[in-house]
Amino acid sequence: MADSAYWNPKNETLPRADLHRLQLGKLRRLATWAYANSPFHRSRWDAAGFHPEQLATLDDLRRIPFMTREEWMASIAEMPLFGDLPTSSATNAIRYHLTSGTSGRTPIRVLDSMKDWEWIAEMWCYGLWGFGVRPEDCVYIAFGYGQFIGFWGLHYACEKIGALVIPGGAQTTEARVKMIMEMGATTVASTPTYALRLWQQAAEMGIDLAKDSKVNKLILSGEPAGSIPAVKRQLEHAWGAKCGDTAGMTEVGTIMIFECERQPGGTHIIEDHYIEEVIDPVSGSPVGYGELGERVVTSFGRGLIPVLRYRTKDMVVKVPAATCGCGRTGDLYDGGIRGRWDDMKLIRGTNVYPSAVEAIVREYDAIDEFQIYLWRNDIRDEITIKIELKPGREAEWPLLGDELARALSLAHENLRFLVELMEPGNLPRFELKARRLVDARPVAAYQA
Ligand SMILES: [Zn+2]
Repeated sequence: MADSAYWNPKNETLPRADLHRLQLGKLRRLATWAYANSPFHRSRWDAAGFHPEQLATLDDLRRIPFMTREEWMASIAEMPLFGDLPTSSATNAIRYHLTSGTSGRTPIRVLDSMKDWEWIAEMWCYGLWGFGVRPEDCVYIAFGYGQFIGFWGLHYACEKIGALVIPGGAQTTEARVKMIMEMGATTVASTPTYALRLWQQAAEMGIDLAKDSKVNKLILSGEPAGSIPAVKRQLEHAWGAKCGDTAGMTEVGTIMIFECERQPGGTHIIEDHYIEEVIDPVSGSPVGYGELGERVVTSFGRGLIPVLRYRTKDMVVKVPAATCGCGRTGDLYDGGIRGRWDDMKLIRGTNVYPSAVEAIVREYDAIDEFQIYLWRNDIRDEITIKIELKPGREAEWPLLGDELARALSLAHENLRFLVELMEPGNLPRFELKARRLVDARPVAAYQA
């Protein structure tokens, strides 16, 4: 198998017709299991007039009602700790995890069985192997190892592959850089933001990661920025390494998509383990290849928490498998995950995602804090990025401001961004997940 480019050579290259047959079989089994064992699904499906026996073709998937985070949260609130979604009690679980918990939102609590956990690692294996991680690799995992599920699955996947794992929990950034150098790590797993931070820290320590380290692969996850070309180019240059994007979610426990070694500008969907639909987030009807829409996930892997037709609010553009020349028959998301539907703002016809703006702003080490401020100038929507600089870095303005405005514009179909330097201490500070967007446009006009 070491010669193969694929973790699962058979399934990753299945002709689409066979793949669909496999998906239908798995869907029937999953729906039957969920109906019999998850009160959450049974009551919602009964109310919607759906029964697993109605799944005659793959298109019948659309008879299953969408599942939303709100419904899941409501069931957890009514029946603490886990709601009525789990198919079995917590005594049969071996792991407990949480979503990362955006401020103001209660995190979702999830449970996994041993079998689930084995599958979670298996999904990461598809992505790691597909990006070239092999037994001889030494993988440093820049991750806190807390209750947030994050890179836990990646950790076990590396073990499964036979790579040497260095768990980088509870270390300072400086200690992490030292460890990467000392152990001769060849692969680093990190969020895009943190990969930049590690590089900046290394530079301050007089280390040029591109020249001095053995790192040749970065496995990125956790933020849409991993597929933003500008961020990726910068990271690849800074580290002298290839950057492979992946994306997962706590709700399914692991990754659904990964970038292969060909780096086609998109991420393959692991279609033998998921059905990924793309819909119009307003009407709920399916959209075609090449159209921006919300991804809806059905996961065949998790038994304790079955997720069917879950509205993710992630915005994606699906393109056919043939877009990539690697031979995989799984379709791709061009540009990975573009952002989140509930976060997206429309400014003069251009979609702006705060996460994408943040990814660019964070490239500038001199910036201490920022805010995305939307306002209306007469009849025109404007977007201003308010900036506070780190003490002692004021001399970098206004050059930095010009550069930032240009970079933001370039990443947004030439939309004009205004930048404004603020006096230190004026912008709000956040401890965990930040809310850095203020929309000051008149609501009525905005809706029109
Ligand atoms: Zn490929």
